[in-house]
Amino acid sequence: MRKYLSLLILCILFMLSGCKYTTNTDADVVVTIFPQYDIVKWIAEDYLDVYLVIPPGVDTHSYDPSVDDILNIKKCDLFIYTTPSLEQWAPGLKDDGITLELSNNPNIHLEKVQEKEEHHTHHGEHDHDPHIWTSPIYVKYMVEDICNALIEIDPTHQDVFINNKNRYIEELDKIIIEMNEVSIEAQNTTFYFGTPFAMFYLFHHFDLKFESIYETCATEIEPSIDDIISMHKTIIESNVSHVFIKELVSTSVAERLVLNTDIQLEVLHSGHNVSSSDFEKGITLLEIMRNNINALRKEINK
Ligand SMILES: [Zn+2]
Repeated sequence: MRKYLSLLILCILFMLSGCKYTTNTDADVVVTIFPQYDIVKWIAEDYLDVYLVIPPGVDTHSYDPSVDDILNIKKCDLFIYTTPSLEQWAPGLKDDGITLELSNNPNIHLEKVQEKEEHHTHHGEHDHDPHIWTSPIYVKYMVEDICNALIEIDPTHQDVFINNKNRYIEELDKIIIEMNEVSIEAQNTTFYFGTPFAMFYLFHHFDLKFESIYETCATEIEPSIDDIISMHKTIIESNVSHVFIKELVSTSVAERLVLNTDIQLEVLHSGHNVSSSDFEKGITLLEIMRNNINALRKEINK
């Protein structure tokens, strides 16, 4: 009896572990972060199964892949990540199938992270700003590369994929036109940031002026009290109405910046990830970009 019991337990354990590891292992495409997930879903509709490695609401930079993640990456037909400076763990994970490193597009230029001399440490790959998806100009290259890779793994749906890709590009072109307008409207505006800063490519491509209390997207280097007091003074003197904050991070420094003023905190969404509730509502990267245009205009038209 005891023998049968232990056999039964073994069977149950095997089934349980089997269940765990079969979750999503049939995914055709594995993507690391939300922007790529959104693009793949838009282009591939439901023709391909997509597995998102970094779940909604979770910090992108500090994520370590789980056993399930690694199994899914090894088994899928197409694995998409951004750049080793964001997903340090991603390169070399996949032996066969296709791996797409989005920052490898020859039109995408990773810029060195702007850090003050005294804070400069040896980050290795971290030295490059990975947030390419913040600029619609770079997202266009990401969309083209993702579409080509999807066609490679599923040529039978080539026409659907190309059609969807073209619609995505049309939407991005509209956003680029609007951002060019914002760029002209904002000639006399400086945008102030009170949380870690990830929007360099957007601001660089559209020639927008900004000052950020955090030097980078990293939270390790907290701003000094002197810097906070100095920026607090500047934003009051500059007649600023909004201080911009990133999603899903602590806003305590930003709150200190606007203390005892009427200045509003306004989210400029960096798109790294979205909250679970936004994910369930089906928020898209295009919506995030459109919301950001509205947020920038609030400060321009104050
Ligand atoms: Zn970041």
